[in-house]
Amino acid sequence: MNTECPECGAAVAFDEAPMAGEIIECEECGVELEVTAVNPLAIAVAPEVEEDWGE
Ligand SMILES: [Zn+2]
Repeated sequence: MNTECPECGAAVAFDEAPMAGEIIECEECGVELEVTAVNPLAIAVAPEVEEDWGE
């Protein structure tokens, strides 16, 4: 299974079929990527965790 890092365009390979919601790290640019769909495979840059939730 292969796809592309949406951030830097590097090839991202999976040894095993990923699961939706899985977080991986791009080996090229180090960005965190979330598997948003598995059929077809789609990944997106994982949103940064918001630590400030309120007022
Ligand atoms: Zn990348």
